[in-house]
Amino acid sequence: MTEAKIPLAGVIGSPIAHSRSPALHQHWLRTLGLRGFYIPMDVAQSNLAEVIRALPKMGFVGCNVTIPHKEAVLELADLVTDRAALIGAANTLIFRADGKIHADNTDGYGFIQNLRQSAPGWDAKSGPAAVFGAGGAARAVITSLIDAGVPEIRLTNRTRARSEALRAEFGGKIVVYDWVKAGNALDEAQTVVNASSLGMQGKPDFRVPLDGLSSTAVVSDLVYTPLDTTFLQRAREFGCVTVDGLGMLIYQAAPAFERWFGMRPEVDARTREVVLGG
Ligand code: NAP
Repeated sequence: MTEAKIPLAGVIGSPIAHSRSPALHQHWLRTLGLRGFYIPMDVAQSNLAEVIRALPKMGFVGCNVTIPHKEAVLELADLVTDRAALIGAANTLIFRADGKIHADNTDGYGFIQNLRQSAPGWDAKSGPAAVFGAGGAARAVITSLIDAGVPEIRLTNRTRARSEALRAEFGGKIVVYDWVKAGNALDEAQTVVNASSLGMQGKPDFRVPLDGLSSTAVVSDLVYTPLDTTFLQRAREFGCVTVDGLGMLIYQAAPAFERWFGMRPEVDARTREVVLGG
């Protein structure tokens, strides 16, 4: 009788020591009583292809991919999902039994799932969305908001050319607003998202004027260090329901865990504590 192999997964990035993904996946493995390991792997760009090709031979069933490799892995995959192709980056690889490498992006799913769970009354179709930022995270947010059926996305970014490029790529629902008049994008917006890195520890605060913010808007910040950003605190003063970025981080991990280890993990208060280091 041959003994079943222990499934391995992990996260590839550089640097990677700060990542909370190992704590999260190990917590799910433990609570579900599953065999398996999830480890951080600091891999340089020059070694990426070699490492990814070696992993399946070592018992890996897949891995997460983070900065700076999210775009480069698309080239190494045999199959790329539509949403990963649209976003232009992958955060999840699945090593299939037939030897093929499958690349997916679950960031947009994580973003929407977090909104739905944290703000149950949220309705994508209830009004325009205002999105601040036009980097990798904004691409995932925009793709998922369009999918969810928002009627319009007001996009504003410090470097206007990046917003214009996203409008050219994603089409007519995107209306570009100038960064110096970012507050105007809030007028009647029902979904408001900070997808820029402003407000993150070590970065300047995100100080968009909120005078035009509607009290019925759901306001979300992708930044999760700190967890309760000044932006979210100010939005609550306007009566808005706010959603922090930690949930997105957790929800994007759930579908990958299920694909690799065969069971859907539960997202609960303890999961958040574990990711926060508790
Ligand atoms: P990115 O590709 O580097 O983009 C950074 C964005 O922030 C760009 O739009 C950039 O504008 C803007 N920005 C940076 N510094 C700025 C400044 N001083 N003033 C105005 N705008 C500034 O990063 P990303 O991957 O999209 O990540 C964005 C944020 O989302 C980060 O805080 C990241 O931690 C967070 N995130 C969270 C999750 C989650 O699961 N919660 C997932 C992914 C990302 P320019 O184009 O003008 O440079």
